[in-house]
Amino acid sequence: MNEYDSNRIYDSVKKIGFEKTENYEDASCYLLNTCHIRNKAKEKVYHEIGRVKKIFRHKKKPLVIIAGCVAQAENQEMLKREPYIDLVIGPQSYHKINDTILNHIEKKKKIEQTEFDAISKFKYFNKIKNEAGKVSSFITIQEGCDKFCHFCVVPYTRGPEYSRSFKEIIDETKYLADNGAKEIILLGQNVNAYDNEGYRLSNLILEIEKISEIERIRYTTSHPKDMTEDLIEVYKESKKLMPLVHLPVQSGSNKILDLMNRKHTINEYIEIFDSLKAINPNIEFSSDFIIGYPGEETQDFEDTFNLIKRIKFINSYSFIFSPRPGTIAADLKLINKKVSMERLEKVQTQLFENQITMNKSLKNKTLNVLVENLTEDKMKVFGRSEYMTPVIFNGKKDDIGKIVPVKIRQSNRSTLFGEIIDNANQKVA
Ligand code: SAM
Ligand code: SF4
Repeated sequence: MNEYDSNRIYDSVKKIGFEKTENYEDASCYLLNTCHIRNKAKEKVYHEIGRVKKIFRHKKKPLVIIAGCVAQAENQEMLKREPYIDLVIGPQSYHKINDTILNHIEKKKKIEQTEFDAISKFKYFNKIKNEAGKVSSFITIQEGCDKFCHFCVVPYTRGPEYSRSFKEIIDETKYLADNGAKEIILLGQNVNAYDNEGYRLSNLILEIEKISEIERIRYTTSHPKDMTEDLIEVYKESKKLMPLVHLPVQSGSNKILDLMNRKHTINEYIEIFDSLKAINPNIEFSSDFIIGYPGEETQDFEDTFNLIKRIKFINSYSFIFSPRPGTIAADLKLINKKVSMERLEKVQTQLFENQITMNKSLKNKTLNVLVENLTEDKMKVFGRSEYMTPVIFNGKKDDIGKIVPVKIRQSNRSTLFGEIIDNANQKVA
């Protein structure tokens, strides 16, 4: 979502004369879009500012703007802790970015914008075209969260749940499609909680399905509680919805899910998995895991580990619990750090093994790959399989934006390597 937001911020500041530069040293404005989900992210911001200070030590100081959830959570504190920062702007105030910059330039005053005003924000951005111009494009359809998992800052930094207008999302998709998008990734902190005047995520997917230029549809991140019947049914109907479901479970233990206030059980999660597999056995799952949540005992961890073995998640994210100020879990007694680290290592080893096994099983198979760009050395092309796995192969510039058959020859944990198949009659796995 931060990538989408950064692009939209750029679409806005272009109107007041800013242009992107590849060269830090040339910049007259430095905008850092930040994430607050784990503690490390916040500290990274201050390190990054230190780096900028060094770069500009003997030059004119650039305008320094901190955007995103760290800006929202820390607000005035940031201006106090780091006087090098000029402006702080939270995620629901981006519609004010141009005015805030102009105001600062005129009055030389430090400004902090952190109100929650999602309605005005999307109203503003609907008038400014999304110029991402990418083969695989993001669209935010929903923001914020009302679920208040005990570990999570999102409800405090992105604010209450808000769903954008169905029509505006379709208009934005059509515009992106006219400008080269072939894949749309619908975004939201709780994307499957999307509800705009009765239109649900399932309705959006089926409407986007009708746009002929769009060949692939994905959505992220979903909550198990919102995997409703209509959304599961879409997997029967849709030909463009990709067979990778990113559905965070966080823990395999009902006790921990309850302590986390997740509002779903492991049985409910497995039921979703079974229903989707019954519709299409090729559907695969990826997930997020929090390891070492306060109260996690050996048996709870074993339950998580066994769930990973059972579901055979691919491409999952796993992190040690990071206490976030202001959340209910912030003051809970942490479990031993060494134990958490050992558990994380065990989980990651298993998750990586799942990934490696999956990638190895694709050797000599032919996959449909959506080509996104040339590799950095311009010798090959980069694309993604239906499961989002990066694929590098001997394509041409002309292949960008096309779905082409690629025979997989080699792989490592994260990437597949192959060669393009010319014969149009080849069987595709
Ligand atoms: N809404 C999604 C859901 O309910 O699963 C998740 C969105 S959250 C922004 C992304 C991921 O960050 C979570 O799935 C969780 O694994 C991780 N996360 C959030 N807070 C965390 C914390 N305090 N410590 C470690 N990981 C955290
Ligand atoms: Fe955070 Fe997701 Fe829980 Fe909302 S549902 S509080 S975004 S983890």
